[in-house]
Amino acid sequence: EVIANKTFFKNSLIKMAELSEEQRDYWTSLDSNIGDGDHGINLSIGFRGISKEIEELDQTTEDIHSLLKKSGMILLSKVGGASGPLYGSFFIKMGKEVEGKTEVTFPEFVEMLQSGIDAIQARGKAELQDKTMLDALLPGIEYLQAHKNEEDYLTVMEKAIQMMQEGAESTIPLIAKKGRAMRLGERAIGHKDPGAESSWMLLNVFYEEMKK
Ligand code: ADP
Ligand code: MG
Ligand code: MG
Repeated sequence: EVIANKTFFKNSLIKMAELSEEQRDYWTSLDSNIGDGDHGINLSIGFRGISKEIEELDQTTEDIHSLLKKSGMILLSKVGGASGPLYGSFFIKMGKEVEGKTEVTFPEFVEMLQSGIDAIQARGKAELQDKTMLDALLPGIEYLQAHKNEEDYLTVMEKAIQMMQEGAESTIPLIAKKGRAMRLGERAIGHKDPGAESSWMLLNVFYEEMKK
């Protein structure tokens, strides 16, 4: 069963841009606690770049791969911080997984997310409990892999997002082993990682679009 086409991803990117505007101050405040206070600004700049060009990107691309690749490249080029290259490669590799396709099934969608998350890990070299976005993403993708063939994919997706949200919460008591927050040592304890929070909220957009 086809659950997503190119328009699904186009609409998701537009919604992610809206979310990034709405959450800009919140994500930035999380980053002010343990980083340099720009995470929300970085993502809003990056996704604004995508949303400005989205109609043209849609018209000039044949498949899901090229749409996500061009979008990821905008994030790579517009976002100065660590999150730009990480989210940029996430979208690029997510698309690469379905090169040539204009429609995907739920198991294929899960493989797309897997490739994207693998790219974040390959680039950033972080492990679980290093207090990064991977603390949100890894529990979610593990759940999705285990349940991707179930018929009720919306419930599977809902649960996976919930696990990602819990994963973001789980960063609060941690010391950071990667990224800027590393420099704080024990002073990072008690604060949620901004990238973990933005990542589950961004992936939740896919779930919201699936429900439509
Ligand atoms: P910067 O730290 O350069 O200002 P941002 O503030 O936009 O960039 O993003 C910070 C977020 O990036 C962190 O909260 C963390 O989730 C994520 N991050 C940083 N380094 C890594 C890494 N090596 N692997 C995975 N995620 C990382
Ligand atoms: Mg920052
Ligand atoms: Mg920065």
